[in-house]
Amino acid sequence: MATSPPAGADKALEKLGLVRDIDLALHLPLRYEDETRVVPIASLHDGEVGQIEGVVTTSRIQFRPRRQLVVTLQDESGDLVLRFLHFYPSQQKSFAEGRRMRVRGEARGGFFGLEMVHPSFKAADTALPTALTPVYPSTVQLSQAVLRKAVAAGLARADLEEILPAGSTPAHLPTLREALLRLHQPAPGLESQVLEDRSHPAWHRLKFDELLAQQLSQLRAKREREQQRAPAFAAPRSGLHDALLAALPFQLTAAQHRVAEEIARDLGRGVPMHRLLQGDVGSGKTVVAALAATVVIGAGWQCALMAPTEILAEQHLKKLVGWLSPLGITVAWLTGSRKGKARTKMLAQVESGEAALVVGTHAVIEDQVRFARLGLAIIDEQHRFGVTQRLALRAKLGESNAQGEALEPHMLMMSATPIPRTLAMTLFADLDVSTIDSLPPGRTPIETRLFADAKRDEVIARIGDEIARGRQVYWVCPLVEASAVLDLQNATAAHAQLCAAFPGHMIGLLHGRMSAAEKTAVMALFASGQIAVLVATTVIEVGVDVANASLMVVEHAERFGLSQLHQLRGRVGRGTTASICVLLYSAPLSDTAKARLKALLETGDGFEIARRDLEIRGPGELLGARQSGAALLRFADPVADEEILLEARRVADRLLDVDPEAAARHVERWLGGRSNYLNA
Ligand code: ADP
Ligand code: MG
Repeated sequence: MATSPPAGADKALEKLGLVRDIDLALHLPLRYEDETRVVPIASLHDGEVGQIEGVVTTSRIQFRPRRQLVVTLQDESGDLVLRFLHFYPSQQKSFAEGRRMRVRGEARGGFFGLEMVHPSFKAADTALPTALTPVYPSTVQLSQAVLRKAVAAGLARADLEEILPAGSTPAHLPTLREALLRLHQPAPGLESQVLEDRSHPAWHRLKFDELLAQQLSQLRAKREREQQRAPAFAAPRSGLHDALLAALPFQLTAAQHRVAEEIARDLGRGVPMHRLLQGDVGSGKTVVAALAATVVIGAGWQCALMAPTEILAEQHLKKLVGWLSPLGITVAWLTGSRKGKARTKMLAQVESGEAALVVGTHAVIEDQVRFARLGLAIIDEQHRFGVTQRLALRAKLGESNAQGEALEPHMLMMSATPIPRTLAMTLFADLDVSTIDSLPPGRTPIETRLFADAKRDEVIARIGDEIARGRQVYWVCPLVEASAVLDLQNATAAHAQLCAAFPGHMIGLLHGRMSAAEKTAVMALFASGQIAVLVATTVIEVGVDVANASLMVVEHAERFGLSQLHQLRGRVGRGTTASICVLLYSAPLSDTAKARLKALLETGDGFEIARRDLEIRGPGELLGARQSGAALLRFADPVADEEILLEARRVADRLLDVDPEAAARHVERWLGGRSNYLNA
């Protein structure tokens, strides 16, 4: 390497994850600049980027309207003004009168004809590059020039030999080395368009390799798990399971039956289950989880159920206690806000095994918690837990059984954001997936209506009708994450307005800044029917279950995500009465906001909503933490690149059988230390 990068550059590179040579080689351009051609000044058009060459005819510092360097450059066809609002003395020297300079920038119509503000520049005697110039994703601390050098050096040093045995990459694709050279240093004449829209075969090769690494890493985790042992809860089951079934006030749906059987089969295998249970809001996942718990508890083992928020955990607690306590099962309750004696007692019950079921927030996996015999861990709304929390959970489960049994617990993850099959395959290749694809009978579909905020008074009148009939209402305000104060203002303003409108009724307020105890108290009043209208920020988003609530009003609906609105809407329509969801919006609406609201009006099906959400947002955002940061696919898009994904999946399966060593090297090349995160 010719020059070492300037001080501080290493840190900046590290921040971008560019540590190894291969990381640099795999850091691909966002786009390209064409510096191979110089055009006449007279051919520039307003708004167009161009590169020109000419002689500096004037160069002076001007002080009005503010200090700036103003240069005139002239070629045979005409002249052009250059402006530098920030400049160093060295730059001023570069533009000494009489020097020939080459500049590149966007031409803009100015007061005296076309000008360029802060163009990039070089002396005109520098040789013209013969390839397109790559522009890399970067940070403010790292200039393109430094990054380009570092990438070129990394590319030259990196080991780019083909790792994959012949025949395992699709035949028409270039080698990895060819693909990378093509993308970092495109030959002259190559259209930057095919490189930038990622349709070029070089991109295809990289996407394939990336998806293959991801599939390999997850399939390997799955195979390793197949080698581990877990308690086998085989049939015949204890009476607990059937006792719960008999005690339920309803019949399981066919879909619930099917997934409950899939889970029971896993629990009987003696191999740790890692299963994702997905189903739309209100599809009845909780009872399926409870049935799984009875299988485990009936065999003398413990079960833990973890939810992302205290409100949600408490809902589970109530429901499970209602179902399981009559069967003689002791339930412990662990959350962050539970302290002192009560907590000490719970911890002792968990450690002794007296508490067969432990329900709570992430407090369930804290250091002090020791299980006697943990057989099953259930995680609700799993996508709402961060990657680090999931890794902590894995570690916790690994050490869970203090009594020295070398058995791994089973794991059941639940999600109300059902995702399409191919996407589930990429993101959860290490999991088995069960899907509840229909709702319990007797639900009346929720009617969704859209109103401009100007119709607010009509909507409030409608609330009056509803509560006069003894029904309850949610009023949801958007969570303003950037400002807890603003957040509160929204909710308190709506609360005041509704209190004034309905003096004879209790209007509740629930927001993120309240303590857990306060929230619980308000929820209890709403659940018991004493609060008629509950004004809330999105803390009620998931899992809350009050069957008498028949109207939901969402204020500033345009600020919510699509899946989030669907989840919210699922809070009503839980009983047999017809329910309405009113979306209030404030104009103007962005195109994506329009698309979101339109989707909600058109469909109530969670799978269809998830599909539309994917279209609008792309998979990265939809799936939240699991996909964020290091785990994000950089090049491939599992939806758009489905064909490549399916191919990578086939190859991954075969490669693990025929050449596990090559598989390991490929994963190491692509993921380095990050493969852990992908499997969290
Ligand atoms: P989610 O899948 O969103 O977690 P829940 O488990 O909270 O849904 O179930 C929603 C509601 O439906 C609960 O009140 C639950 O008791 C009820 N429920 C579940 N299964 C059935 C069924 N088969 N028939 C009737 N009601 C059911
Ligand atoms: Mg739920």
